[in-house]
Amino acid sequence: MIIVMQLEATEAQIQEVVDLIRENGLEPLVLPGEDRVAIGIPATLSSDKRATLEAVLINHEGVSKVTQTSRPYKLASLEFQRKRTEVKVKNVTIGQGHFVVMAGPCSVESYEQFRLAADMVKATGVTVLRGGAFKPRTSPYAFQGLQLEGLKIIQQVGIETGLVTISEVMSGDMVPLVAEYVDILQIGARSMQNFPLLIEAGKSGKPVFLKRGPSSSIDEFLLAAEYLLAQGNPNVILCERGVLPIDKSYTRNTLDLSAIPVLKEHSHLPVIADPSHGTGVAKYVAPMAKAALVAGADGIMVEMHPFPKHALSDGAQALTPDQFAQLMSEIKNLAGHVGVKMG
Ligand code: PEP
Ligand code: MN
Repeated sequence: MIIVMQLEATEAQIQEVVDLIRENGLEPLVLPGEDRVAIGIPATLSSDKRATLEAVLINHEGVSKVTQTSRPYKLASLEFQRKRTEVKVKNVTIGQGHFVVMAGPCSVESYEQFRLAADMVKATGVTVLRGGAFKPRTSPYAFQGLQLEGLKIIQQVGIETGLVTISEVMSGDMVPLVAEYVDILQIGARSMQNFPLLIEAGKSGKPVFLKRGPSSSIDEFLLAAEYLLAQGNPNVILCERGVLPIDKSYTRNTLDLSAIPVLKEHSHLPVIADPSHGTGVAKYVAPMAKAALVAGADGIMVEMHPFPKHALSDGAQALTPDQFAQLMSEIKNLAGHVGVKMG
C-alpha cells in the first residue's frame, strides 16, 4: 500500500500518518518524492486489514490518495522507489546510464591464469573482474574451485590491477569470509532462493549481485531481491542469466532478453545480462551481449579465459582474449549509438 500525501501536507500530518501505521503494527517507509511525500507499507495485508486501514487513511488530513501496490515485492519495486538505484563500488558505478562490463574466467584456477585474464580484460576497458573461488557444480566430482586459496588470489589480483572484484558465495555462513576478500558478493542462479544466504548477504551491507534462478519467475526473482533489501542493504544488482531452454541441444539456457525491459519497468534495481551462462556457447555470447545492451541492460557479465580449451569449468562458453577484445570494441561502438556511457 502507498499513501500519497498532498502537495501542501505538513510535517505534522506526515508524522500522524506514520504514527497511525505504526499503531496498526506495521512499519511505514517514508518515500520523499520530488514535490510530495509518499508513505509505503512494505507488507502483505489481508483484504480486511487493507480495507480498514485504507478507509482510515484516506480520510486523514493531508492524504491525497491511497493506492494498492500491484506486485508482491515492495522495496524492489519502482512504485515504492522512484529513483533508480546506482550501486557504487570503489570507482565503479553500476546503474543508470553506465554500461558496466564484468569479465573474467568462470573459475580462478591459479594466480598466473587469473592475473593474465585480469590484465587482458583490463586492457579492453573492463572495470569489474569476475572469477569463481567456490563453484556450484552439478557433479560433485567436477572441479569445485580453489576455495580459500581462490579468494586470496582474487584479492591479490584486485589490489594489483585496481579492478573491482566479484565472486560467488554459496552459503550464509560463508558470507563473512567471502565478503572479506571480494568487493561484490555473487549469489548464483542455483542459490537464488537460498533464503538464509539472502538474509546473511543482505545483512553484510556489501553489494550483492543476484542471479535469476533458471526456472524462476520475475516475481520470484524480485522477491529474492526483496530479502536482501529488507535487511537494509540497498546495494542490489539483478542478473538475468538465462532460463531453462526448450531445446538443450542448441543452448545451455535461454537468455531471457525480455526480462531486461520488464525488470527495468517494475524495479529500480540495475539489471546486468550474462550471455555466457545465458547461452553456454562461445559463438552466441557476442550477439546476445549486444542485444542485451540494446534491450536496456545496465551491463553484461562475460566469461573470458586466456586458454578456453584448458579451462577447468565452462570452457565451451568462454571467449578467447581476441574474441573478447573484439566484443568490447563492438560494445563500445554500440554504446555510442544507444547513448550510454561505458564504465
Ligand atoms: C557463474 O557465474 O560462474 C555461475 C555459476 O553462474 P550461474 O549461477 O548463473 O550458473
Ligand atoms: Mn561459469
